[in-house]
Amino acid sequence: MLPCHFTDIIHTFGKIFLKRNLDCTRLDWEFDCFMNTNREHQCDVLVIGSGAAGLSLALRVAKKGKVIVLSKGPRSEGATYYAQGGIAAVFDESDSIESHIQDTQIAGAGLCEEEAVEFIAKNAKKCVQWLIDGGVPFDREEDDSDDDPKYHLTREGGHSHRRILHAADATGMAMQTSLQDNVHNHPNITILERHNALDLICEDKIGGNQDKVVGAYIWNRQQEHVETVRAKFVVLATGGASKVYQYTSNPDVSSGDGIAMAWRAGCRVAT
Ligand SMILES: Cc1cc2nc3c(=O)[nH]c(=O)nc-3n(C[C@H](O)[C@H](O)[C@H](O)COP(=O)(O)OP(=O)(O)OC[C@H]3O[C@@H](n4cnc5c(N)ncnc54)[C@H](O)[C@@H]3O)c2cc1C
Repeated sequence: MLPCHFTDIIHTFGKIFLKRNLDCTRLDWEFDCFMNTNREHQCDVLVIGSGAAGLSLALRVAKKGKVIVLSKGPRSEGATYYAQGGIAAVFDESDSIESHIQDTQIAGAGLCEEEAVEFIAKNAKKCVQWLIDGGVPFDREEDDSDDDPKYHLTREGGHSHRRILHAADATGMAMQTSLQDNVHNHPNITILERHNALDLICEDKIGGNQDKVVGAYIWNRQQEHVETVRAKFVVLATGGASKVYQYTSNPDVSSGDGIAMAWRAGCRVAT
C-alpha cells in the first residue's frame, strides 16, 4: 500500500516541487497519478483483448452483465484490423461443410483438432451472418437484392471452393470498425485502451482456491501505475504470439501475453 495520508502526499510532492523547478503542470499530473493509484475496477466479465475475438464475445455477454474490455494500445490495434483477404464460410450452394472441414485438415497437415475444425466449419455461416447483421459491409454480387443478398465469394489458397467473404481488400478493418461501433454504443461495455493486462489474479493469492481466477492486474500506460480488475469471469482474447519472430506482418501487440498469463496461472500450453 502506498501512503495515502494527505500530509504524506503534500510532503512527497513538496520535494518534487522543489526538484522540478516549479513545473506545475508536471506536478498536477503526478499528483493526479498518485491519487489514482490502486484504482480497482469491477465487472462481471473482463475481456482481455479488443480484436474480433474479444469484441464479439463482449457484445454477446453484455446482455447478461457489465463487461470491461482491455486493449494494450488503441482499441483497433490488433491483427484483426490488418486482415485483408476475408473470412471463410460455406455460403455457396455447390459447397459443403464436409469440404470445408477436409480442406482445413489438409491445410493443417492433419494437425488440427478435429472437434474444433468441425465446430468452426459448422458455425461459420451463422457467425458471419451475425457480423452482417451487425453492419459489416461484405461485398455483394451486382445482381443481388436486399431480399435475396448474394455475397461475392473469392477462392483463396487451400480452399477447393469459393468461400471467402470480403470487404474489398480491407476485410479486417471493416470488421474491427463495425464491432467497435457496436461496442461503443453498448451501455454495458467499457473499453480501457492502453491498459496492459500484466497477470491474472488467482484466488490463492487472496487465500482461496488456486484454480479460480478472480481478476487481473493491469498497467495503466497513460498514468503509469498498476490497477486491479475484479471480475466473475476473465476471458483471454489477446491474439497470437507472432512477435517472437523478428520479421512479421503482425502488429506489435501480438506478443503472446495471454498465453504466458494462462501458463503462469497453471494452464497447460500446447502448440
Ligand atoms: C496482415 C494480416 C493479414 C491477415 N489476413 C487474414 C485473412 O485474410 N483472413 C483471416 O481469416 N485471417 C487473417 N489474418 C489473421 C487474423 O487477423 C487473426 O487470426 C485474427 O484477427 C485474430 O483475432 P484476435 O481477436 O484473436 O486477435 P487480435 O485482433 O490480434 O487482437 C488481440 C487484442 O489483444 C490485445 N492484447 C494483447 N495482449 C494484451 C495485454 N497484455 N493486455 C491487454 N490487451 C492485450 C491487443 O491490444 C488486441 O486488442 C491476418 C493477420 C494479419 C496480421
